Amino acid sequence: MSNNKLVRVRFAPSPTGDLHVGNIRTALFDWAYARHTGGKLVFRIEDTDKDRVTDEYIQAAIETLKWLGLNWDEGPEVGGEFGPYLQSQRLDIYSTWAQKFLDQGDAYHCYCSSEELEERRQLQMKNNKAPGYDGKCRDLSNTQIDQYKDGGRKPVVRMRMPQGETVFNDLIRGEVKFDHEFVPDFVLARADGSPLYTLAVAVDDVLMKITHVLRGEDLLSSTPRQIRVYQAMGVNPEEYPLFAHLPFVMGQDNTKLSKRNGEVSIAWYREQGYLPEAICNYLALLGWSPGDDKENITMEELVQLFTVERVNSSPARFDMKKLEAINGDKIRALTLEKFLEWSLPFLLKSGVISGTSDEISVVKSALPIIQERIVTLAEIPAMLNFLFMKNFIVAPDELSKIKDDSSQQVLKVALAKVAPLDSWNHANIESTLRVALIEELGLKPRIAFSALRIAVTGSHISPPLFESLELLGKERSIERINAVISK
Ligand code: GLU
Repeated sequence: MSNNKLVRVRFAPSPTGDLHVGNIRTALFDWAYARHTGGKLVFRIEDTDKDRVTDEYIQAAIETLKWLGLNWDEGPEVGGEFGPYLQSQRLDIYSTWAQKFLDQGDAYHCYCSSEELEERRQLQMKNNKAPGYDGKCRDLSNTQIDQYKDGGRKPVVRMRMPQGETVFNDLIRGEVKFDHEFVPDFVLARADGSPLYTLAVAVDDVLMKITHVLRGEDLLSSTPRQIRVYQAMGVNPEEYPLFAHLPFVMGQDNTKLSKRNGEVSIAWYREQGYLPEAICNYLALLGWSPGDDKENITMEELVQLFTVERVNSSPARFDMKKLEAINGDKIRALTLEKFLEWSLPFLLKSGVISGTSDEISVVKSALPIIQERIVTLAEIPAMLNFLFMKNFIVAPDELSKIKDDSSQQVLKVALAKVAPLDSWNHANIESTLRVALIEELGLKPRIAFSALRIAVTGSHISPPLFESLELLGKERSIERINAVISK
């Protein structure tokens, strides 16, 4: 294929649920490749299996891509000259091609029932033969066809796979060869006329002028069948799309990442407060690397640096800890305005604030003190709740930690020392308490301050103590310390 041809890549999910980590890694690489080359990204929904792909899942897929910032040039909502981009709206196109293949003799009607196929498959296995269609209906006589028809059988359309092999150059794996002995004649359309994946995907890639197919390794074995469809369509081999099969994403335990061994739904990461740029940054590292040890990259850098040559063929391992670290970095890199924007939905949803402008300005002054500490946005409500609680009480499990004599002494001394402070700022509070508790009482900081932390925030885990006291204000701080000093 000539190099000056405009690159056209496609992301073609079959949304049978929330898009998962593997789908999005593919979408991201498709997007990055299109943007890097100045080409086009086509977003096509493969929804011919209407039992499994629902409109809700399709909408959710569209929304997820938008949220991640992976924009497309052609597809749902934006249209394009090669639409429609939902396969369910292209059924006539597929049946026209299936008919053409029948007319050309590339395909044939197959009348075998599923029971017969299964019976023969069992036999093949018993005789140590590769299971697959045995060609029984390849060359039926008219009499045999009439008999089947009279018996009320409805045929499927099956592609004739010639003897020989399919060889293609995978951009990631190099030369890949499939002996047709292991690629039996395959079904293009069901008895009711509905197309199967191989027919629809290949026809669409040709008609949508796709130049590069970047997709998961799980689809590698379907490639010779797709190439067979291109042949039957009369496409010049020079014009076949180029394939790049992305490596599997494995779970921590080295088995394929799935619901079983990890969280795979992107919706889940979103709910947990992972930023889209962190998810994209992390997923970009699953099978690709920017070249040096650098792991924190921006979307602009990804576009600039992304090449298929840098994609690895060996499986990538999903590492939650690394994703968390990247998310923390991305949170720290947010401006205060952006951080506020991301935080508010979490605070509102959890009911910590109702959204008044007073509350929002408190949130804004509190965010800088937690920005360094959190890994996900979902941690924010619990961190800031103490600032908004109307009837503050310390829960019994936390209260039990400060019932002992030394905690009570800390609280009493602290109270006595901070009560006279005129200027209530964290620096002042800190130096006063350090002198009183560390120097004069000789306590270890962790012991001295954890009692106070529980007393004023209700939890032994909180934002930095002195800043928290400042934000809470003198009156409320004193009130809370007083309330936990036993009479
Ligand atoms: N629709 C297929 C799937 O979600 C992918 C098609 C392709 O990329 O070739 O598994």
